[in-house]
Amino acid sequence: MAAEDAHVAHNYHPLPVVVARGEGAWVTDIEGKRYLDLLAAYSAVNFGHCHPAIVAAAQEQLARVTLTSRAFHNDRLGTFATALADLCGKDMVLPMNTGAEAVETGIKVARAWGYRVKGIPADRATVIVASDNFHGRTTTIVGFSDDPQARDDFGPYAPGFVTVPFGDAAALEAAIDETTAAVLLEPIQGEAGVIIPPEGYLRAVREITARRGVLMIADEIQSGLGRVGTTFACQREDVVPDVYLLGKALGGGILPVSAVVADRDVLGVIRPGEHGSTFGGNPLAAAVGTRVVEMLATGEFQTRAAALGEHLEAKLGELVGSGVTGIRVAGLWAGVDIDPARGTGREVAERLLGRGVLVKDTHGQTIRIAPPLVIRATELDWAVEQLRHVLAG
Ligand code: PLP
Repeated sequence: MAAEDAHVAHNYHPLPVVVARGEGAWVTDIEGKRYLDLLAAYSAVNFGHCHPAIVAAAQEQLARVTLTSRAFHNDRLGTFATALADLCGKDMVLPMNTGAEAVETGIKVARAWGYRVKGIPADRATVIVASDNFHGRTTTIVGFSDDPQARDDFGPYAPGFVTVPFGDAAALEAAIDETTAAVLLEPIQGEAGVIIPPEGYLRAVREITARRGVLMIADEIQSGLGRVGTTFACQREDVVPDVYLLGKALGGGILPVSAVVADRDVLGVIRPGEHGSTFGGNPLAAAVGTRVVEMLATGEFQTRAAALGEHLEAKLGELVGSGVTGIRVAGLWAGVDIDPARGTGREVAERLLGRGVLVKDTHGQTIRIAPPLVIRATELDWAVEQLRHVLAG
């Protein structure tokens, strides 16, 4: 911790625990103390730490070839893209590495589509985004954040983004004009505190964007790939967006893998030389991503997240009024608002750490619960019991 403090930029404020190993829903620190991981690396570890099938896919590929660049074909990318496109019900995949890169790529694709297909005049394309969004940390993305901590002192910001209130379909439609290329949304806002929009919102956005000739881009980087009890959070309202942005769990908790997934009439606008990444689509990432897609294709993790999510919601519900002022639950993903009289989210996270439970606070009074989907009901019960103790002081 001292070495990190001295030599790593202070862009995070980690809880004081030094993880040395991980297995399933549990991690172990350097002194051998075990913790139940209720963060799962912000949903990147949906399948649990060191899932044997994912580790095996990585090890097998590590012994063959790991990086070719896209200057050449490799014998893994085609298989991965076919499987992922199939999982999404789309034609094509553009592979990248991190979530922010997938978002940046989605914005580039939307603009190119806007000019080349929709006929928006040069350099006028706009993208509508939602209030309280979180799409990553690059300069373009923080420019359309309304969180001062994410945005302030990092300008000048890229133009071409219009913010409307999250959950308000009428406001979104009113913001559309002839320059609008796309609407970019998290179907459930993760970093904002697991904010679930009003029932019917996503369906309305889908209807409006289709009718007005605007792309609907769903940032499912945190909400997707099993977390909410379905493969995608958009499925909660039977919505299929034009573009999926995927990341985090796509890399199986092993390495960064992200992707933009869409049909040929959208993703086909990108031409050779216009976009790329040295690491995007590398054979190691593709082998791991293929295994992840195979695991999701069985539906097992989605079913588990749905069932355990109901269980978690019932358990957390018992705490409302006893140190918890509100809960929002979607599958195995919960935002828990802490009564300020019992401490801040950070203080609750620190006390839970002392009891062997890892969570992360967000926006002051909220803690987010997003365990690996392999967690057991009894382990969830134990974790909620620790929260009850912590809130009781
Ligand atoms: N989009 C959403 C919805 C996210 O939650 C995140 C990360 O938390 C990102 C994008 C950015 O992903 P990354 O940190 O891999 O760049």
